[in-house]
Amino acid sequence: MPLTIAIDGPVGAGKSTVSDVVASRLGILHLDTGAMYRAVGLYMLENKVDILDEGRVSALCEAGKVNVDARYEDGVQHTLLNDRDVTPFIRTQEVGGAASAVSRYPAVRKMLVRRQQEMARQQPMLLDGRDIGTVVLPNATVKVYLTASSESRAMRRMLQLREKGDATPLEEIIREVNARDYQDMHRETDPLRQAEDAVLVDSSDLTFDETVNAILSLVEEKL
Ligand code: C5P
Repeated sequence: MPLTIAIDGPVGAGKSTVSDVVASRLGILHLDTGAMYRAVGLYMLENKVDILDEGRVSALCEAGKVNVDARYEDGVQHTLLNDRDVTPFIRTQEVGGAASAVSRYPAVRKMLVRRQQEMARQQPMLLDGRDIGTVVLPNATVKVYLTASSESRAMRRMLQLREKGDATPLEEIIREVNARDYQDMHRETDPLRQAEDAVLVDSSDLTFDETVNAILSLVEEKL
C-alpha cells in the first residue's frame, strides 16, 4: 500500500489549502474529496433534480449517469463530471449546500468512496474530506483531524468567498457553516467524526505555516 495521508475536519478548518501545501512539500498528489461531492451536487442542480429526493438521486448514481473523477495537470486537481471539467463551477455556497445534502445518501457515498480508494491504491496520496480516516482509508499511514473554532472557520470561509467575488454577509456564512457541520456530523451514513487513531490539530491559534509544519512533523514521525 503506497503512503496515504488522511485529513478530515469540518468546513473552513483550512483542510484544502493546508492539504495542497503538505502534499506538494511531500511530492505527492492531493485529492480534495469534497470536490467530488460538489460535482454530484452540481449535476443535480443543473439537471433540476430535487436534492431531497433520495430515491431519484440514488437511482441516477446507480444507473451510471453521474460519473465523477479527478485528473491532475501539473499536480493540480481537475474535477470531472461526465468527462466535463467542472472545477470552476463547484465552489459556490449553492453547490456546497447541494453537496452536503446528497452526501447523506449511501448510494452517492458508495460510488465516490470506491473511486477514492482506487486512486489511493495507485499512488502515494493525501486525501482530505470528512470520512477519510474512518471509512475511505482506515489504514492510512497518518490520520489528522483538522479543526478550529467556529468563529475562525467562518472568517476563513468569508475570506475565501470574497476572493471569488462572493459578498455573502458574515452572519449568513456563520449560519451556513453551522448548518453544514450539523448535517455532516449527524447524518446516518459515515458522519464526520475524528477517527480513534487520528491526531487532533486545532488551527484556531496557529498560522498557516504552523499548521502545515505540525502535519509535516506528524508525517516525519511516522516515516
Ligand atoms: O469540503 P467541502 O466543503 O468541499 O465538501 C462539501 C460537502 O461534501 C461537505 O459539506 C460534506 O457534506 C460532503 N463531503 C463528505 N465527505 C467527504 C468530503 C465532503 O460528505 N469525504
